Amino acid sequence: MKWQGRRGSSNVRSSTGGGKMIGGGIGGIIIAGILWLVFGVNPMTALQTGQAVTGGSSESSTELATSTDRDTQFVKVVLADTEEVWHQIFNEAGSTYQEPSLILFNGQVSSACGSASSATGPFYCPGDQTVYLDTSFFVEMRQNLGISGDQQGSGGEENQGKAGDFAQAYVIAHEVGHHVQTLLGISQQVNEARQQVTQAQSNKLSVLQELQADCFAGVWAQRNQERVQFLEVGDIDEAVNAAGQIGDDRLAKASGGAVVPDNFTHGTSQQRVEWFTRGLESGNVQSCDTFSGAL
Ligand SMILES: [Zn+2]
Repeated sequence: MKWQGRRGSSNVRSSTGGGKMIGGGIGGIIIAGILWLVFGVNPMTALQTGQAVTGGSSESSTELATSTDRDTQFVKVVLADTEEVWHQIFNEAGSTYQEPSLILFNGQVSSACGSASSATGPFYCPGDQTVYLDTSFFVEMRQNLGISGDQQGSGGEENQGKAGDFAQAYVIAHEVGHHVQTLLGISQQVNEARQQVTQAQSNKLSVLQELQADCFAGVWAQRNQERVQFLEVGDIDEAVNAAGQIGDDRLAKASGGAVVPDNFTHGTSQQRVEWFTRGLESGNVQSCDTFSGAL
């Protein structure tokens, strides 16, 4: 996937896990002060020792910073690509697209939907209209999907360091798809409907909502391809592969409750691939009516 040299979104922010700041900050200074009073240790030495003790975590955050520089830029470009496309689509319908925020976090993050950890996976919170991505997610995707990217033989110079890019973009586009559902009032309707039906029907509605987000991701890919020709050989396979493999996205409760892991909300791999492809081939949101005749 080609992404360098395009505009990056200004809606991306980073949030480092607050819990990891103990070594520095005010807590560290207070501890150093106490050490000084009790043991006569120079606070500056103590602070330095403190940093040495937490060296493991600061080392890993340096490591992360190196990978997130590139990842952050990538995320900014992909989010900007979604902004361009969805602005276009909303304009065509005589409406205005409101851009979501995206927060990159490491470890823990608190959202309007409750607090989440890296284990939660990527999610969208309707309460603050924000997509949340943990940085470890990229590392995992590279590990899980990078290999298959190589095997698909799109190789050579084109493939260098790019394996898995489009799969990552697809995940972001899927989360933005949930944002679009929120703007269109679909998420709210689904949530209301879910209150009034059986558990099985409620799960089914969730699946349909997820499949529509996949379809919206496909629509985005098609429209972005028209706009900037960003796809490379093997990219679609990559995304289809990702659509089949990634079940970690968690649906955040629109009610503003906690982010609840839900294992029933994503549909089968085949369904996900099918709806992504449908959006991709049509480039039209009308083709993404996963709900018709659902209940
Ligand atoms: Zn989803």
